[in-house]
Amino acid sequence: MNVLFANLAGVKVDPDGKVRHFIKAGSRWPMTIGYAKSVDYYPFPFWLAYALALCKRDTAASCSGLDGVVMDLTDVEMLAAVTDRKPDLLVTELAALTLADDLRFLAAVKEATGCRVLVAGNHATVAAAALLEENDCLDFAAIGEYEFTVKEVVAALLAGKDDFTGIAGLVSRRDGDVLVAPRRELLADLDSLPFPDREDFPATIYPDFTLYSPCINIVSSRGCPCGCVYCQERHIMYASPRYRARDPEKVAEEMEYCVKRFGARQFYFDDQSFVVKKSHVLGVCAAIKKRGLKVPWTVMGDAMFVDRETLAAMADAGCIGMKFGVESADPGILKAIGKPLDLDKCRQVVKWCRELGIRTHATFCLGLPGETEATIKKSLVFMEELDADTAQVSKAVPYPGTPMYAWASEHGYLVAKDLTSFDGMGSCVVGYPDLPAAEIDRWYGIFSKRVARKKLFKYMSEPGQSLSILLEMGRRKGVMSVLKSAWTFVMRAFR
Ligand code: SF4
Repeated sequence: MNVLFANLAGVKVDPDGKVRHFIKAGSRWPMTIGYAKSVDYYPFPFWLAYALALCKRDTAASCSGLDGVVMDLTDVEMLAAVTDRKPDLLVTELAALTLADDLRFLAAVKEATGCRVLVAGNHATVAAAALLEENDCLDFAAIGEYEFTVKEVVAALLAGKDDFTGIAGLVSRRDGDVLVAPRRELLADLDSLPFPDREDFPATIYPDFTLYSPCINIVSSRGCPCGCVYCQERHIMYASPRYRARDPEKVAEEMEYCVKRFGARQFYFDDQSFVVKKSHVLGVCAAIKKRGLKVPWTVMGDAMFVDRETLAAMADAGCIGMKFGVESADPGILKAIGKPLDLDKCRQVVKWCRELGIRTHATFCLGLPGETEATIKKSLVFMEELDADTAQVSKAVPYPGTPMYAWASEHGYLVAKDLTSFDGMGSCVVGYPDLPAAEIDRWYGIFSKRVARKKLFKYMSEPGQSLSILLEMGRRKGVMSVLKSAWTFVMRAFR
């Protein structure tokens, strides 16, 4: 039996010839990421890669992976690649933004191959039963964390079973009915999973916070105790504030394996936040040092839970960068969204990082509950005064299934209902009586320009580093693509 784990097509050519590039599985916020056929950010599809590795390890099925996003495939190219593999079961994630196209694609796959289709991920979790009821091409939907759910489906298919109703976390069909099993318990022991599959989802081609290529993505924990109202992982995939950490020794073992197997020159920890639990962070740092690993690493962290001692241990063990969310410089908004960030602590964390040689990347978000023109200005000033090396800004997107979506729907703040509009790169989908969506878009343009300038000055101050990033991109995408991307970036800073 062939099982294919796929991240669906990442490139769409609009009728006017415009090329749109999406990020999907692996991204916290699936969105359009660029309009050239070259982008410099591809999140690693961890859940797909873990599910693939688990099925390779624990089942007799012939399992493989295919990433239509990182390979820049269009629907047509993806369909050819999928049918070529002759899958009996296709496992994929669904994102709200590309839902209509992806469902059309899956119907085409079904027609061409007759394979069963299992959908998972954020949107499949939110709308599992409805998706099966409305789409004959779908056979299963997995709710939440899905690696072991998929493994049990594969095992049942191999055993010739046609009743899947006993599999926790699965929505399936039986005698014409769509049946929803209870949600699966969160995985207690993350190390019961093998390392994610980096052979079919090639380890070295997913740049994220990359300073030295190849940079390999890794996770050391799952979950986050905060409750940010827009966070899909917190409210949908895990539906829990529970934090789970891997054994630090296993984390270091995986890093060592990646150095030997793939020649890793850097790691990026794509945890929800790497620094939630001090004892875990200190454990990982000690394990890295014990193995004598000298490879630098960056993390998705935060400025809430971390202290100087932890940052010092991280720097000593090779940490060279930390991303963290600020979102807003208005305490009222931070309170409204459920993010316990203290802005003075945030400034302090940036200062500590600078002292310790850890570069910082701060993220901001416009259009959150309580946003006004005054709060946006406050965030803009904060972003410019904060000594972070680089920053980014996005527009609030209340994905279905999050508390922010329920809140915005209830109060009539959603200005778009069509899911294809739920795109951080598109027009804002929320608007408030004192701050219409078009104003949020206008401020986003101003904020983006300032952020791009900050990044450009940083790149210019480190020409060696910047050249190495460009060379790596050129190696993967070709010189013309790099020039096009660089030009787009410069234009964004000064247009
Ligand atoms: S801090 Fe980040 S990971 Fe945690 S709930 Fe908020 S957005 Fe989600």
